[in-house]
Amino acid sequence: MNMVDKMLSELYEEFRAKENNGALANYIPELSKVNPRNFGIVLTTVDGYQYSYGDADIEFTIQSVSKPFIYGMAIQEYGVKKVLEKISVEPSGDAFNSISLYPESGRPFNPMINAGAITATDMIWQKYREETTDRILKTFSTYAGSPLEIDESIYTSESTTGHRNRAIAHLLRNFNILQTEVDAPLDVYFKQCSIKVNCRQLSTMGATLANNGINPVTGKKALKAKYIPNVLSVMASCGMYDYSGEWIYNVGLPAKSGVGGAVLAVLPGQLSISVYSPLLDKKGNSVMGVDFCKTIADRFSLHLYKTPRQIKHVLRRQLTMRTVRSKHKRDTIAENLFEQFGSSFHVMELQGDLCFATCESFMRRISSECQTLILNMHRCTTMDDGALSLLIRLNDEFQRNGKRLFVTDYSHLDLLWSYNERHPTFLIFKELDDALYYLENTILESNGYEPKQEPVQLKDQQLLRGLSTAEVNELQKHLLYKCYEEGDTIIRKGSVAEDIFFIESGRVVIQDTSDENREFTLAIINSGNSFGEMALLDKQNRSANVKAQTRVTCFVMLYEILDNVESLAGIKIKILTNLGASLSSRLRTANKEIASFT
Ligand code: GLN
Repeated sequence: MNMVDKMLSELYEEFRAKENNGALANYIPELSKVNPRNFGIVLTTVDGYQYSYGDADIEFTIQSVSKPFIYGMAIQEYGVKKVLEKISVEPSGDAFNSISLYPESGRPFNPMINAGAITATDMIWQKYREETTDRILKTFSTYAGSPLEIDESIYTSESTTGHRNRAIAHLLRNFNILQTEVDAPLDVYFKQCSIKVNCRQLSTMGATLANNGINPVTGKKALKAKYIPNVLSVMASCGMYDYSGEWIYNVGLPAKSGVGGAVLAVLPGQLSISVYSPLLDKKGNSVMGVDFCKTIADRFSLHLYKTPRQIKHVLRRQLTMRTVRSKHKRDTIAENLFEQFGSSFHVMELQGDLCFATCESFMRRISSECQTLILNMHRCTTMDDGALSLLIRLNDEFQRNGKRLFVTDYSHLDLLWSYNERHPTFLIFKELDDALYYLENTILESNGYEPKQEPVQLKDQQLLRGLSTAEVNELQKHLLYKCYEEGDTIIRKGSVAEDIFFIESGRVVIQDTSDENREFTLAIINSGNSFGEMALLDKQNRSANVKAQTRVTCFVMLYEILDNVESLAGIKIKILTNLGASLSSRLRTANKEIASFT
């Protein structure tokens, strides 16, 4: 179970245990027959992933949650201007069944109250007549990603008792807002309210709105992207009836409720949440639905006006320590150990804004094989409270399961930085490379690797593997022995390359300068390894600076002796073979790293 899944399921249980003193809708007699304890929740992300809890498969009627989708159909058929002539977009501040019409024109205040929705239905009916219900079902099914049907008993129940809606429709007809007749479009309206959905389907419908009109599971288009802002803005301003202002202020999610017990909330570009719990408050909104949306929005900082970008690209790349290395160059034994044991050490390089949706997206991708995880935040731009609480929880989970979570390059993220000052619970490293180096050493230590003792003799040098003692002794005669003090420059970028260095003791750092003249480290090389060997093959000038990081002693070999000294001819081949092997292993690692950019 992924971590977000755990947190949401706990939240669900927390709500399940709560007392709920709402009442079933009874003005439609059939609605009062449902089990008041039904309670389901589904969250769907814009990449089509669903989290579902409780009665996510129990069907209920969509009721007023149909209104935004009907409105979307009407504007797609007629264009915004024509629809606005008949239905305004002002919040009425009244109940869903209020008769909120402009006195002169009879135009309904908005498409989220019954008067506005009946008008929108009539507009569609004017075009499609007896095909209208089928078209509505088809469109809703595209939103939901599966075929939907009408609940005949609820439809009959409402149609035989819906006198108030009938009165509204007649009033609309009186003002010529309904164009030709009352009964037929009203019948379609009752049917569209009686479409059966479950929480999963409803949440997918919301995710389709969040995903600019494309169903994120099927990839099918339900509404043209250009109309999505129209639908979402009426949901934001009018979706919760006389509770809409407070809702958008506090909860911040465009939403729609229905007397069947559903609340559908949408966070554009990110996700949607559907809640089904049929006990309603006095305003006709599901008590649990309202409460749950409030809590989840608050806990995870979900709000329309907090707008992170690039949700899908939060994970810049994901690697294991079989592939990624610190800048410390190691010998082949160490390399083999990383290859063998590096697969449970994972690195996730994150980027952009960290919020609930972006964290959910990368946390879902943490593999169960991962025992140690480094989260590199170098390229993250912001972090909000929702992201922080998910990270804290992730860290707790890791600790509880004996796993380790490291966070690197995070000091620019104030929230995390100050949290960690107060509660130093995160394992932190200033830079990714430090964490990698540390973990490489733990891999080596726990697998019996013994570092070479200094001074490292010529015969033990990486690049001289396979040379016989006689060959090593012969080579030694032609080498210089040099010492450098800490901080000395040993090789300068651009200079002519003529020799290769075998480190006997100490450590050097290979550095280059960026275009802005900033020095950065390419590699760190310690005793037993060599540097300056590249130009042996291509005779190019030095490509980087090399500095002594400690006091360094080394053997120095001029390239030319391999060509000029006859007794070294056999050695040359061995050295070139070793060099070739080390270059191809480096190239292989580099290729894997490059391929890891998603
Ligand atoms: N069918 C219901 C009605 O018209 C829908 C109301 C609602 O869900 N708020 O009364």
